[in-house]
Amino acid sequence: MYTPQDPNTQFPRPPFPPQQQTGPGDIRKMDPAPDHGETSYIGNNRLPGRKALITGADSGIGRAVAIAYAREGADVALSYLPEEQEQAEEVAALIEKEGRKAVLLPGDLQDESVDKEIVDKTVAELGGLDILVINAGTMPTVDSIDDFETKTLDHVLKANIYPLFWLTKAASPHLRPGASIITTSSIQGFVPSPSLAEYAVSKAGIANWTRAMAQQLIERGIRVNGVAPGPVWTPLQPAFVPNEKIESFGEETPIGRAGQPVELAPPFVFLASQESSYVIGETIAVTGGSPTH
Ligand code: NAD
Ligand code: MG
Repeated sequence: MYTPQDPNTQFPRPPFPPQQQTGPGDIRKMDPAPDHGETSYIGNNRLPGRKALITGADSGIGRAVAIAYAREGADVALSYLPEEQEQAEEVAALIEKEGRKAVLLPGDLQDESVDKEIVDKTVAELGGLDILVINAGTMPTVDSIDDFETKTLDHVLKANIYPLFWLTKAASPHLRPGASIITTSSIQGFVPSPSLAEYAVSKAGIANWTRAMAQQLIERGIRVNGVAPGPVWTPLQPAFVPNEKIESFGEETPIGRAGQPVELAPPFVFLASQESSYVIGETIAVTGGSPTH
């Protein structure tokens, strides 16, 4: 990951083979296999002894962040949906291979009591909490307002927005100065696609919440920041996006290809580490060159 090279050709470019999954999706069914850093991420002791909780940590961006954090010296609690148990166990094995502790926390975050339990179990098993990565998300596509359904919007907000408040409230008494909260927004939160209105409004809300909560928590020495990815090769895509868009996935970006999950890990490491001490309330765009405003 530190060898200078042309980023245009560093990772697979479209076209991708047509493929569809049902949510929440499985990385083992993806072609080509995504790179979460399993063999490519090189750690440099940037998070020594830190204790992290990551939601959506079984696959995609969360999996890449979990692997990176362990290689940077952190213990990691993994939150994911119960049907993703096997993928989460693979991540736990990779963390333990680094000599770090992994905690497995299956559960649906759309229920406040589950969010609280996940934080409480993290604190009990890791002995504290320094880094909270609120990354889990769902992305139904709805092409027309005529097909709008209240239950879809309720689901998107319950999965993508409410956990910001629930997890942070539960974590608050445990966070000490130097702690960091990191959210995952999206380019969709700034430049929405027509068929992603429900998702996009949730992602705009995440970036907005990040700015508000950062101002609230900095007086306690806790920094809140976010990452806004562009198109990234994760199961979210074949689970929610039709094949005609999968085949050309990422083509519209200036770099002309999708990002790989491992390419998202470095900003999450930077924002978790003390090296970003003066970065507060920011959402860093990682989009392959597509402007976010
Ligand atoms: P992913 O499917 O690998 O990860 C999303 C994870 O969210 C799932 O693995 C699942 O564990 C979790 N999740 C979903 N609903 C949940 C619920 N109700 N309770 C508990 N966990 C739940 O896909 P990803 O692309 O890595 O997604 C991670 C984040 O990145 C999401 O917030 C997504 O919106 C965001 N994002 C992704 C892209 C992209 O192109 N892949 C672009 C911008 C933003
Ligand atoms: Mg998953």
